[in-house]
Amino acid sequence: MNISEQIKYYKSQLPEDVVLVAVSKTKPEEDLLEAYNAGQRVFGENKIQEMTEKWENLPKDIEWHMIGHVQSNKVKYMAEYVNLVHGIDRLKLIKELNKQAQKHDRTINCLLQIKIAEEDTKFGMDINDAEAILNKDFKKTYPNVNVVGFMGMATFTNDEEQVQREFKTLKSHFDRLSKDHNSLKILSMGMSGDYKLAITEGSTMVRIGSAIFGERNYN
Ligand SMILES: *Cc1c(COP(=O)(O)O)cnc(C)c1O
Repeated sequence: MNISEQIKYYKSQLPEDVVLVAVSKTKPEEDLLEAYNAGQRVFGENKIQEMTEKWENLPKDIEWHMIGHVQSNKVKYMAEYVNLVHGIDRLKLIKELNKQAQKHDRTINCLLQIKIAEEDTKFGMDINDAEAILNKDFKKTYPNVNVVGFMGMATFTNDEEQVQREFKTLKSHFDRLSKDHNSLKILSMGMSGDYKLAITEGSTMVRIGSAIFGERNYN
């Protein structure tokens, strides 16, 4: 299937309340345009510089999601336009997002990245640290940042039971904390290899790259 057929396939397959983030990192703008012309509007990138170039060149009604690890000193390049930052793994980043969002007189939505992988050492914060951040007098201290949910990445393994266990853990944290924090609406979990399982376990946003655009070439 080509890119536009893949987009149509996923749009027909995913439940209506699950958002598809088309992960286009490393892919040329023609590929994003093909997805765009098939109706896709939400794209995920993991390098701020690459995302900003694409934002400059592509249609302005695209929603840009930063899904990768964020360096504080690069936040300023995306503060004007980014729609959702998935990878918030430390308080320092929230401070910087708030500062840069203020300069553009806007509010930036973000997700706290929670460490759920049992084996991998992926980025992410401990759920207790996330809870502490949410319990701070958040709105007053960081009025230009909105924490709208959680993001998590399961271990890269063929052990489906383990992946399921990790998704369940994140969902249970999400359910528990969203009772007290009603801004928490989005649960971003699931990629090309595990999105079905993630949806079964309560994901509301899946990040699918290689299954849509083909394998990535990092050269
Ligand atoms: C690259 C990436 C994805 C997409 O991965 P695929 O396996 O190609 O679907 C999803 N989430 C994050 C955080 C990524 O970095």
